[in-house]
Amino acid sequence: MTRRQAIEAGAATAAAVAASGALAQGARPIAEGQPMPDGVTLPASPPPAPHPGSVGFAIIGLGDYALKQIMPRFVQSGRCHIAALVSGNPEKLARVGDAYGVPPEARYSYDNFAAIAANSAVEAVYIILPTGLHADWAERAFAAGKHVMCEKPMALSASECERMIAASERADRKLMIGYRCHFEPYNRAAMELTATKALGDLRLIRTEHSYRLGPATPATNWRIARAQTGGGPLEDYGIYGLQAALYLSGEMPEQLSASAFRPEGDPRFAEVFAHVAVQMHFPSGTVAQIVTSYDSAGINMVEARGTTGALRMHPATGYGGNTLVLETGRERRAMEPGDPEVQFAAMLDHLAAAIREGTPILTPGEMGLRDVRLMEAIYASAASGRSVVLKPDGTMRG
Ligand code: NAD
Repeated sequence: MTRRQAIEAGAATAAAVAASGALAQGARPIAEGQPMPDGVTLPASPPPAPHPGSVGFAIIGLGDYALKQIMPRFVQSGRCHIAALVSGNPEKLARVGDAYGVPPEARYSYDNFAAIAANSAVEAVYIILPTGLHADWAERAFAAGKHVMCEKPMALSASECERMIAASERADRKLMIGYRCHFEPYNRAAMELTATKALGDLRLIRTEHSYRLGPATPATNWRIARAQTGGGPLEDYGIYGLQAALYLSGEMPEQLSASAFRPEGDPRFAEVFAHVAVQMHFPSGTVAQIVTSYDSAGINMVEARGTTGALRMHPATGYGGNTLVLETGRERRAMEPGDPEVQFAAMLDHLAAAIREGTPILTPGEMGLRDVRLMEAIYASAASGRSVVLKPDGTMRG
């Protein structure tokens, strides 16, 4: 493949994945309206009445992350509450609506979602759907006059991200990406350490985000269906390492090279890669190595090494239980900057502040777009077997 072809292949993540020639074509649709996921604990009693001025959210997509992580955390937010639900499964909608005290008239299906425009109790929409649905649902939410929090990754391609940003601007409504680690005390402390040169000049960042997927096919799990997920582990899990490399270095890479691997004959990897490895070079000379896998024993790790010290986070980007060790000379210090679980409510409150007071959003749509551009460059490099040179906005040069 020529460099030109590789760049064209990077025009959209899904297109780039297909262009590698390694993956089967034709993702099958996965039905909406999934049943209640296993292991969900619903609140025993509905939440208390919202604080005055609280922002009402509609949750779109009552899946694993919504029901187990995001929705239970609203009670810790002083500025946001759940005002509506959107689901394709009426039975789940009724059970979850009752448990969270959402009135029946504020429970929507995907089909009657447009009616939410008339519900003034809903000011924002939180999109927690498979990635391939993010762009369309963001556009629908903006068309209904709502602000949007959208889960990571922002969308499947840079052009989808650009559509979302344009829709947000047209509607004059906020767009935030649910990059929770920006609101997580251990990651914030790590950002502060690298920014204040507590490690000296940063030289090397290493991240690894891996787990082993159980038996599945693209028909049973959207995370391995190319049309919903893109290339696989990079978008889903490796994105935390990509993000960490950017927020710890405080720079954009000027060059990257990558490889992506898919074993033959494994139905889990009929459409997506099993492993992706990336090396990024930053203008300061810092190098980042990002590894992600859907087929190796679990790890969630970030390390940064400078000229005079190092930091290690393991786990680094979890919902809770993160750790941070700072090593300088002979000193080794385990830091405890706060409870990692505040990240969810802090993220919600950050969007509420942007809506109410007009404060800038730390993780705006432009950041989601930047990361999707970098992922497109990563797949283009993997497809061509060559380094890719980048512009400061993450698009490929040449
Ligand atoms: P999930 O499969 O558990 O839930 C997806 C939900 O979307 C289900 O309720 C399903 O019914 C619904 N849905 C609607 N239309 C669908 C369709 N056509 N195909 C499949 N499902 C459809 O997934 P999840 O783990 O909750 O992930 C949802 C989003 O949240 C993704 O964007 C994911 O990347 C993100 N996420 C973020 C984090 C984080 O830490 N920030 C963690 C997990 C997931």
